Amino acid sequence: MSASHRQTAEVVICGAGIAGVSVAYFLSVEYGLKGIILVDQATPLSLTSDKSSECYRNWWPGPDDAMLQLMNHSIDWLEKLADLSGNVFHLNRRGYLYCLSDPSLIPSLLTESQIIANLGAMPLRIHDGSLDRAAYQPAPAEGFQNQPDGADFLLDRSLISTHFPFLSDKVCAALHVRRAGWFSAQQFGMVLFDQARAHGVRFINDKVTGIDVQSQRLQAVRLAGGQSIHTRCFVNAAGPLIEQISQLINLPLPVFHELHLKVNFLDTLGVLDRSAPLVIHHNPHSLSWSTAERQLLEEDEETRWLLRQFPAGAHTRPDGPPDSQAILLLWDYHTPAVQPSWPISPDPQSAEIILRGLSTIIPGLQAYLGKFPRPTIDGGYYTRTRENRPLIGPTPIEGAYLIGALSGFGLMAAAAAGDLLAATICAAPLPTYAQSFSLERYQDPNYQIMLENWGETGQL
Ligand SMILES: Cc1cc2nc3c(=O)[nH]c(=O)nc-3n(C[C@H](O)[C@H](O)[C@H](O)COP(=O)(O)OP(=O)(O)OC[C@H]3O[C@@H](n4cnc5c(N)ncnc54)[C@H](O)[C@@H]3O)c2cc1C
Repeated sequence: MSASHRQTAEVVICGAGIAGVSVAYFLSVEYGLKGIILVDQATPLSLTSDKSSECYRNWWPGPDDAMLQLMNHSIDWLEKLADLSGNVFHLNRRGYLYCLSDPSLIPSLLTESQIIANLGAMPLRIHDGSLDRAAYQPAPAEGFQNQPDGADFLLDRSLISTHFPFLSDKVCAALHVRRAGWFSAQQFGMVLFDQARAHGVRFINDKVTGIDVQSQRLQAVRLAGGQSIHTRCFVNAAGPLIEQISQLINLPLPVFHELHLKVNFLDTLGVLDRSAPLVIHHNPHSLSWSTAERQLLEEDEETRWLLRQFPAGAHTRPDGPPDSQAILLLWDYHTPAVQPSWPISPDPQSAEIILRGLSTIIPGLQAYLGKFPRPTIDGGYYTRTRENRPLIGPTPIEGAYLIGALSGFGLMAAAAAGDLLAATICAAPLPTYAQSFSLERYQDPNYQIMLENWGETGQL
């Protein structure tokens, strides 16, 4: 091998999605490490990280506060970097609005909300008409500073219709989560990427094809182009390909993949308020069909499933600048485990189904049924663990690290995940939640017991 094909690096990171870029940022900018190489076979931030709906929240259930603390730390970083960059990535704080159309579920949502508030998302303000109406502070469309924390539980119908007039009067309760909103994922990623490069990180456009290990210790990383990079530290940030890279060191990972779709279309009738938060239909329900449609669907075995009850979670938000008409629609009503492959092949019916799912709580959307104005559908894979918590930390191979299984929360968690892995690599003090995201957790018999009784994963 020629000398030009032999290189040395302190750290090699495989994958310049949001996870790899974040690790590169924290290692180089915050920990001052030199000699970092970031390798990607594609354009940075182009595989999954530019397919997301770009939302964030600190409102996470769980048997403990680990996810909530991870997200709070990540949002601290989002706010700090927004301040430092003049908010080039348009971080807002409009919140998530979880809407119920089934009154029988109000008590359970109230209980779950109180539990999450007590885990650390405090406070929970209940607006049932007994509080002064001014106690509910609506969210501004832009900006993120000086906003309330916690959540507002709206039970007062007149308060709901005053602030969210596009919602159906079937919406009997709405939980407005306040440390939440969205931002431009691409621009946020580029802030991290540009800063990392300015601090010496070198980007190589190539494919990682081999990892040399001797006596359970990392030696070198081999690339398709023929280079071999001698290094003692390798980070697997390969997103949906994290298992393929892990196979190079014979390490199986407890992850699986689901295809998730995102529909984008022009709301030419202006049904969804341009200043709306992320609106979620938070209870299972059946799609509405006319009697004739019902009969037709019932007759055909292939279409009968469209009459069954669908899960909670259809969601929408306005997208783009204030003068845009674009809105996003998402609903994970059918997400079996699959092997990732590209290009993805979305179910052409999905746009109509998601529109129907949302039109129960946003009746104005019914005007588009059967005449959808040219939706575009894209998406990518949620690579996730069973309990929907990420994998961040060391592996049994000395010098090999993981950051992945970021499921549907990779953008919002990226900063804290990158910070956590950089601290691990640099042997800096770790936050209390570090163990909750390590691969090692699965060796703990108590964790196995916890897994059996996990409950809500908080996935949208
Ligand atoms: C429809 C949808 C909606 C979502 N909504 C949200 C949301 O609202 N909020 C949120 O926080 N998250 C959301 N997510 C999740 C988020 O997008 C992901 O968790 C995140 O992008 C994962 O980032 P990653 O860096 O791990 O993976 P990726 O972005 O996939 O990056 C992995 C990189 O590794 C590279 N790579 C792989 N193998 C090799 C190799 N052998 N050699 C070189 N390079 C390699 C790939 O080319 C790729 O660039 C959503 C996801 C989807 C699909």
